[in-house]
Amino acid sequence: MIANYGYKDGSGEYYISIDTDQCIDCAAGRACLGACPKQMFEIITDDYDDEVACIKEANRRTLAFDCADCKPAAGHDSLPCTDACTPGAVRHSW
Ligand code: SF4
Ligand code: SF4
Repeated sequence: MIANYGYKDGSGEYYISIDTDQCIDCAAGRACLGACPKQMFEIITDDYDDEVACIKEANRRTLAFDCADCKPAAGHDSLPCTDACTPGAVRHSW
């Protein structure tokens, strides 16, 4: 399942998507947890009793601000979260 966390406002859409099928048997040792400098990822038990990654509630409405250090206006080549998640479960909409 693709789980989307984020919001949209007048400036755009800011969502982090997590392919939770990849998290069930995470091939990256839950690397997302340690990779994010803002510690935005956590592991929860979902409605199917699977342990999957999600974005913490406190960050879901402030993603553009919270991720700004990783995404300078000048552009970026990579992100700690997507680099760490070698199964490719993490996507950003912006
Ligand atoms: S988001 Fe990526 S690194 Fe984190 S638990 Fe899921 S598959 Fe593993
Ligand atoms: S872009 Fe940076 S701050 Fe945002 S979720 Fe990824 S690692 Fe965390």
